[in-house]
Amino acid sequence: TIKTAAGTPGGIERTFIAVKLDGVQRGLVSEIIGRFERKGYKLVAIKSVVPSRPIAEAHYGDLRARPFFKGLVDYMTSGRAPVIAMVWEGPDVIRQGRRIIGATNPMDAQPGSIRGDFTLTVGRNIIHGSDSFESATFEIGLWFDPEEVYNWRFTNEEWVVSQN
Ligand code: UDP
Ligand code: MG
Repeated sequence: TIKTAAGTPGGIERTFIAVKLDGVQRGLVSEIIGRFERKGYKLVAIKSVVPSRPIAEAHYGDLRARPFFKGLVDYMTSGRAPVIAMVWEGPDVIRQGRRIIGATNPMDAQPGSIRGDFTLTVGRNIIHGSDSFESATFEIGLWFDPEEVYNWRFTNEEWVVSQN
C-alpha cells in the first residue's frame, strides 16, 4: 500500500525525480536510473518531456521570489534537451532519494551522491528530487496524469524488503 499520511519514516512512498537537461546532455540518464534501481526502488512512471512554462513555474513555485527563478525556468523550458521525469516508489524514498541525490550546491554534496560525484555548480546540478511528502504529491500530479503512473509488484519483493 502507498503511504497516504505524511511523516512516517520508512513507509512506502512515491517521489518525483527528474534528470534535468544538463544530465541528459551529459549522458547520465542510465547512471542515475541505475542508482535508484540498484538500491531497490521501483520505477512506476517515466517520460521524456520539455516542460511548458506554466509547469516549470509551478514546479519551482516556492522559488518564485529568488533572483535565479526566471533563468531557471528559461533553462528548463529551453528544449535544448528534454527532461526525464520519473516517479520512484519504495520505503522512505522521498528522504532517501534526497540523500542519493546529494546537497543542492555540488560543493556541499558528499562524494558518493549523484551531485557529489558528477557536478560542480548549482546551476548544472543535473537532477531534481522532491523534498517532502507534500512536494512529492504536488510534483507527481503536476508532471504526470494518473494513468501514466503504473502500480506493479516486484516478483522478488521478499528478497529486497523484509524485516527478517
Ligand atoms: N538553483 C540555482 N541557484 C541557486 C539555487 C538553486 O540555480 O542559488 C537551482 C538549482 O538547479 C536547484 C533548483 O534551483 O536544483 C531548485 O532549488 P532548490 O533550493 O529547491 O534545490 P534542490 O531541491 O534542487 O536541491
Ligand atoms: Mg527543491
